[in-house]
Amino acid sequence: MEVLNDIVFQVDMDTLLARLHIDKESEDAKDIQHLLQSAASVARPKAIYEVSYIQHKSHNTVNIGGVTFTSRVLRLNLDKVERVFPCIATCGRELDEIAIASDDFMRQFWLDAIKEMALANSIKYLDDYLKRSYALGQMSQMSPGAGSQNLWPIEEQKQLFSIFGNVKDLIGVELTDSFLMIPNKSVSGIYFPTEIRFESCKLCPREVCPGRKAPYDKNLLESYYKDRTRR
Ligand code: SF4
Repeated sequence: MEVLNDIVFQVDMDTLLARLHIDKESEDAKDIQHLLQSAASVARPKAIYEVSYIQHKSHNTVNIGGVTFTSRVLRLNLDKVERVFPCIATCGRELDEIAIASDDFMRQFWLDAIKEMALANSIKYLDDYLKRSYALGQMSQMSPGAGSQNLWPIEEQKQLFSIFGNVKDLIGVELTDSFLMIPNKSVSGIYFPTEIRFESCKLCPREVCPGRKAPYDKNLLESYYKDRTRR
């Protein structure tokens, strides 16, 4: 297991304003500049990963480093894979400690956008680091709860976190009773080599989602469950 905690916080003001649809010359832009400066002085994006090996596979389960996960889609995605990288990336708890009044929804929204961009710093760093360190080619990632509830149940966050031990002590991320992560701008999952890039969005029928990365493909979704001859 390795903790990556020297990730540089890089959030460009122009990109942030464009994302928030805020005019550069506006009063809001000045407030956002101050908020970004406060964020930059404390932000510590982080990530953690483990190198794990597939120990056993059944029809809809896969045992990774001694921990069993139940998901037909995960199982099939790892059909020809032996080594995987369980991982968690986060914007860092420090950004949650910036004081904003509970009724100041606008600043909370701006801070959330900053946190999202800090998380993107962590994800990119982790991706580059793994590819460089382990000479990896094309990779994909699957997360518990992503796509739709039955692809890989969100409850399996618990097993995923168990691979690392005390994740809160290691990188400040903890699970709520409903298996969501705090800080909210954190991602967890299994990173694996793949010839054809996997996107959970292709298996997700949600109609309105600003985060969609690929169109829903009903046939692809059905193919995971129809072909019972596949092991
Ligand atoms: S469409 Fe949205 S909800 Fe569905 S998997 Fe993609 S990002 Fe997640």
